[in-house]
Amino acid sequence: MSSRRGAKTQLTTPAAHKRVVKVNGTISVSELGKQLGVKANDLIRQLMGMGMMATLNQQLDMDTVTLIAGEFDYEARDVSFDELAMLSGPAEQKLVEEDPDAVLRAPVVTIMGHVDHGKTTLLDRIRSANVASGEAGGITQHMGAYRVETSQGPVVFLDTPGHAAFTAMRARGASVTDLVVLVVAADDGVMPQTAESIAHARAAGVPLIVAINKIDKPGVDPERIKQELTKFELVPEEWGGETMMLPVSALRGDGVDGLLEALALQAEVLELKANPKKDAFGRVVEARVEKGRGTVATVLVQEGTLSVGDYMVAGEFYGRVRAIMDSHGKRLKTSGPSTPVEVLGLGGLPTAGDAFYTAKTEKDAKKVAAHRESEVKRAAATGRQTSGVDLLAQMGQKEREKQNLILKADVSGSLEALKGSLEQLATDEVEARLVHTGVGVISVSDIDLAAASDSVVIGFNCDPDSKAKRAADQAGVTILKFSVIYDVLDTVKELMSGLLTPETVEVRAVFHIQKVGTVAGCIVTDGKVLRGAIGRVYRNGSLLVEGKITTLKRFKDDVREVANGYECGVAVDGYKDAQEGDRIEIVELKLVKRTID
Ligand code: GDP
Repeated sequence: MSSRRGAKTQLTTPAAHKRVVKVNGTISVSELGKQLGVKANDLIRQLMGMGMMATLNQQLDMDTVTLIAGEFDYEARDVSFDELAMLSGPAEQKLVEEDPDAVLRAPVVTIMGHVDHGKTTLLDRIRSANVASGEAGGITQHMGAYRVETSQGPVVFLDTPGHAAFTAMRARGASVTDLVVLVVAADDGVMPQTAESIAHARAAGVPLIVAINKIDKPGVDPERIKQELTKFELVPEEWGGETMMLPVSALRGDGVDGLLEALALQAEVLELKANPKKDAFGRVVEARVEKGRGTVATVLVQEGTLSVGDYMVAGEFYGRVRAIMDSHGKRLKTSGPSTPVEVLGLGGLPTAGDAFYTAKTEKDAKKVAAHRESEVKRAAATGRQTSGVDLLAQMGQKEREKQNLILKADVSGSLEALKGSLEQLATDEVEARLVHTGVGVISVSDIDLAAASDSVVIGFNCDPDSKAKRAADQAGVTILKFSVIYDVLDTVKELMSGLLTPETVEVRAVFHIQKVGTVAGCIVTDGKVLRGAIGRVYRNGSLLVEGKITTLKRFKDDVREVANGYECGVAVDGYKDAQEGDRIEIVELKLVKRTID
């Protein structure tokens, strides 16, 4: 094997110092094979030797490539594209507090809460209140986000209420929201989506202000809502807690101004700052194509100032900013931090949550966009691109398998954190369903409930009492104890994976006849051959015989299977006149256990 390769390298390989494998972040097995001048199958075997099962399209990381390239006397070089070098705009997480040019910026707010508690009404009210305040034109069109002025300063609202959009953005790595307004209807109280919203805001580390809505309704009691919320460790300021809870009527407008002012004031409390003197950087909120205008992208400038004439890159698209409009449809020349604006000029539709940057020259913008486009194509070709957003979109479309859980924790902080994280494990096929959650020891009633609902009991830093332990033994209820959140998540993932229906995979091994005999001498060119599997014999492209593999030999020994790349002897039931050039496909239906990741 090695001597053959050696002979080849002498002829074709350049001088040692030039023998470099270029890796663009990752590289597929087949591409690596090409660059090294070796057969992909040889590479796959090499990888197997290193304990790694790889397929042709599998992407290998830099570390793996370095190892393999070394074996072949090549040097691996990371030539991944340094797009940030071509783009202006700050690194996203950079601290601006130390920046002397940083100034206070408006908070960006997402409204969440249970369905029908008044999120949309509140957003509408805020939008129209701003028209009344004398802004020219008013906010007439929906553009995904808008900015309102209050006596305490400006506030930006993302116009997609609810936590689905919030989480979808977060799944794309976009932490856009500074503050969550949790709407709770005073006539309904804390409902499931209220609790979910709290969990989502917590998981994102975003502070929350409560708007107790519908106080115009007769007989409602805002104090009762405050009481209910304390169960979630949200304690109103007037009771010595830290959460602002403001009674409002989204319908009539009572308290809405107060809410807006409270939000504006938070910019200072949270020390929200940005430097308007930098080149612009931000996030795409939404984008659409309009006749005669081309791509209209609503972007939120987070840092710096965007100007007409700038070159910008968003997702895999670039363009020169032709026009900027604010939420009143007014044309602007520039737009500073915490400002949602519509931008004309991008060459294609970016996705909500994509970051946008400005580039120094058109050439740079074009290069970055072209690189990103090829990345997207590459990811699509290897079929491994599933974004969090896609998953969210698929969620709830089918009846999902459920892993029932009863979750007990020592303190409610951990309980909430766990609840939020466990909910996020859901895929379109399987979810962890929390039948019951609570703080304190695992009791007999927890065990009874677990037995009744086929649940696994999870104790986070808490144990069953002695009666519960006995009851669990008797009823065959599983109790799992943990003290690290990630361990809980890993275990629940495993439980969930067990619910997935196994996938049926057709394994095919294709090989050609080399010698003729009663047993066909073959070399396995793809996959592997198993005795007892079904073989399909093809001659000149058409099916000749289909039958069971009755004999499988390595040299003189009978074997159960022969792996890729090896020579073997095969006899297929009913296949008598083997000829050189025949091709046998091995068809084996195999159950593969899948896991969620
Ligand atoms: P969303 O599902 O949270 O967006 O809720 P909506 O904004 O669609 O409101 C649901 C229903 O509650 C609608 O019929 C609204 O008119 C009503 N509603 C919203 N806010 C108030 C309020 O402050 N007072 C009263 N009485 N009804 C309200």
